[in-house]
Amino acid sequence: MTITISEPMGKVSRGTVTVTLNGNEMASFDLEGRLLYYAIGPTVYRRSIYNQLFRLEWHGGEERIIARIDDPTFVFERAYTLARETSQLSGDPSLKDALKGVAERTTNWLSEDAKKVRSLYGRISIVPPDLYFSTYLQLTTGCTWNLCTFCNLYKDRTYSVKTPEQFLKHIRAVQSYLGKGVAARRSVFLGDANAMDVSQKLIEQMFVNIAEELENPPIYSFVDAFTTPKNLTRMDFGRLHGLGLRRVYLGLESGDPRVLKILNKPMNLTEAKEFVAQLKSVGVNLGVIILIGAGGHKYWDDHVNMSCKVVEEMNLGIGDIVYLSPLIETQLYTRLVDGLHLGTLYNGQKENQMEQILQKLKQSRKVNCPVVRYDIRESFVS
Ligand code: SF4
Repeated sequence: MTITISEPMGKVSRGTVTVTLNGNEMASFDLEGRLLYYAIGPTVYRRSIYNQLFRLEWHGGEERIIARIDDPTFVFERAYTLARETSQLSGDPSLKDALKGVAERTTNWLSEDAKKVRSLYGRISIVPPDLYFSTYLQLTTGCTWNLCTFCNLYKDRTYSVKTPEQFLKHIRAVQSYLGKGVAARRSVFLGDANAMDVSQKLIEQMFVNIAEELENPPIYSFVDAFTTPKNLTRMDFGRLHGLGLRRVYLGLESGDPRVLKILNKPMNLTEAKEFVAQLKSVGVNLGVIILIGAGGHKYWDDHVNMSCKVVEEMNLGIGDIVYLSPLIETQLYTRLVDGLHLGTLYNGQKENQMEQILQKLKQSRKVNCPVVRYDIRESFVS
């Protein structure tokens, strides 16, 4: 395939190299040559590190996946052709240098590269939407609770914790895999679901290791309000904040205790609010997730009103985020909802509920942070 480039252009910035053709076509790569994004006209694609390609759309500034491309070969080949021809025609030495490695990559190389990701992590189940493009480090595997009726994310694995030696080896293996591509990733997500559910001594040592190996990146992780506070105190979180912990992500799911019971999430809402207050008092920000559609039709009003009230009582502000995440029914959850005659919400109804909560929180004077959509089907690590 040959592309005639009338105006070869490109730039190297923030650990990525981007090439454009006539303002109509664009491909961006990390400095190891991994394709990140490709766009032609209004159509934009994102490639995950598992080598899946997704077509994207933007709604109000939020990226949404609208389709997975079954055969991405054409896009991959076109992106590398564009990189090669730009490399040949460009007179910019730094661009030529950055494109040298990119131009050598191929579709087959991308596929082999993704196999290395699988051997490093197995399956990465989920990351928050603002961290799709972080360095994923897996201190623990799975979820300590793993019994929520709506969640199948970690049912395929038992909870385990790496030893300090294993984790250090893991960090270095991830660094070695990313190579020069690490320059594009300016934060660390510590997984899986309960990376913070380890002893204070171990977690602090792991934070020190991350800071030393990856030059003090900001660190993010999931927590929950019913196991994490048993392991780590407010003072522990204060020290972790000093070692790089910026924001933790908490699945509130609902402010209605009856809905939490249906979800089998053993969380006491008063304790959850106290936990949030402790985190905020030491400078750790929160990402609070509300599950859209939880509790079905029967609890619709209470789920909306009580969830918004709990979020208001958390005093969220600068650096915090509220995520509205449509529930994806598991078989177990569906059986429960049917048995209790709660009435499952269809997609359009979930959109209505999301809009209702969105407007309520946006109009609240007590919620001073962004409220955004979080569709876990879009949670593919880039
Ligand atoms: S929702 Fe969170 S706490 Fe519940 S099983 Fe899933 S990962 Fe574990």
